[in-house]
Amino acid sequence: MEQIIQDFKAYLGEMRMFRQAQAIMSFDDSTIAPKAGVAARARRNGFFAQKVFKMTISEEMKGFLDALESEVGNLDAPTAAMYRIAKKNYDKNTKIPVELVREFSELTAKAHVAWEQARENDDFEHFAPYLEQIVAKSKEMVGYRLKEGQHPYNILLDDFEEGMTMEIYDEFFAKLRETIVPVLKTVVNSGKQPEAGFMREFVPKADQEKISFFAAEKIGYDLERGYITESTHPFCNGSHKTDVRMTTRYDENDFISSFYSILHESGHAIYEQSVCDEISDTILSRGISMGFHESQSRFYENVIGRSRGFWEYIAEELKTYLPESFKDITPEQFYRATNQARPSLIRVEADELTYSLHIMVRYEIERMLFNDEISVRDLPEVWNKKYEEYLGITPPNNTLGVLQDIHWSMGAFGYFPTYALGTAYASQFVAQMKKDIDMDALIAKGDFAAITAWMTGKIHRHGSIYTPAELLKQICGEQLNADYYTAYLKGKFEGLYS
Ligand SMILES: [Zn+2]
Repeated sequence: MEQIIQDFKAYLGEMRMFRQAQAIMSFDDSTIAPKAGVAARARRNGFFAQKVFKMTISEEMKGFLDALESEVGNLDAPTAAMYRIAKKNYDKNTKIPVELVREFSELTAKAHVAWEQARENDDFEHFAPYLEQIVAKSKEMVGYRLKEGQHPYNILLDDFEEGMTMEIYDEFFAKLRETIVPVLKTVVNSGKQPEAGFMREFVPKADQEKISFFAAEKIGYDLERGYITESTHPFCNGSHKTDVRMTTRYDENDFISSFYSILHESGHAIYEQSVCDEISDTILSRGISMGFHESQSRFYENVIGRSRGFWEYIAEELKTYLPESFKDITPEQFYRATNQARPSLIRVEADELTYSLHIMVRYEIERMLFNDEISVRDLPEVWNKKYEEYLGITPPNNTLGVLQDIHWSMGAFGYFPTYALGTAYASQFVAQMKKDIDMDALIAKGDFAAITAWMTGKIHRHGSIYTPAELLKQICGEQLNADYYTAYLKGKFEGLYS
């Protein structure tokens, strides 16, 4: 058995090498790769994707899984986790016919182009036939994986956050709706917004870059094992804990946008840089789930970055990089300007209060699609109605409405809810952290070491050893509980707008 376990680990280690190469290539594709190489890169990426896919379902893999099946109870935690992950991939990838996987991948490549055109021309009808096929094929693929009595959408939810179901999300979003919708009404009815025009002052890109490096390093990102550059959409890319890169984008009339992008991506990056050495060369070296990853990025971006204490500390530091016009701006002015809440149409630009309402709209629509309650042709109408109901505004066109996100063109159903989930996890962690350290006082002093060390000890170091539910229970002693998140939002925004 010892030999089998060793060979199994060596096999997974080989897969990880391919994935490391894929990560570096993907970073290159999204940053510096020349436009002319698109077709060649697509062929190359397809080659590597297929290589890794084949390894997940090979005869060799089957041999390992069969041999280990009866031993699972005796394996140490990391090895058991490797088995669990490999087995889940094997089951998923062998159940769906390869031909269907290939068709789906071709379809989504075409759908992506159609989505871009539809968005540009505000032409939902142009995208609709593709989306209809994507939904149909997604249902077909899920059909091969269904266990008796299981709801198809639950399989997709589980793909993005292990263990999550409609039952859990329904209760979760119901709580958010009950809290956030009335708080947003309070905000709107207060009729006041803070003065924020000063945030639009011109800040040269070179100075914003200095701010990015300063802020990332200050909160715990290790530049010796990292690299920061630009891309159209900010992202974080980790291939190994010693090589975790991230990007932002600079708008010289909106310096705060790159600042918050950097805090957000730093949260993802610190997670990837902080896995313990014992598993850093294994497939367990990545963060456990989408939800956990987002909990870290939103913790640094919002819980820290949009707190009053943070501005008390960072305002003076930032002024050393900002133009003279910021000289007399107080920490309180920064705090209020960076916490404006208002109903808006675009998810990625939404504020901390309303963000989860945008997610809720998408969750409810996906749920109805997979329940056969609505069809793709109904989407614009359903979308607009939900925006009116929750946010009190109606998109003037589909480009600013149902066509705004890339996810459905990729067939990524079940992905959206993890964004809201991550934010709720973060509030749960904060409640626990405050039992151990004086988080608010440390933030106001600009001392983030103990905060990041707490997150590392509880979350980062474990990589993917535990499932999200196991780790959550370990840290908080309970399962998902939206109360911490709703209390946080209510306290903060009623305070700001009362
Ligand atoms: Zn993120």
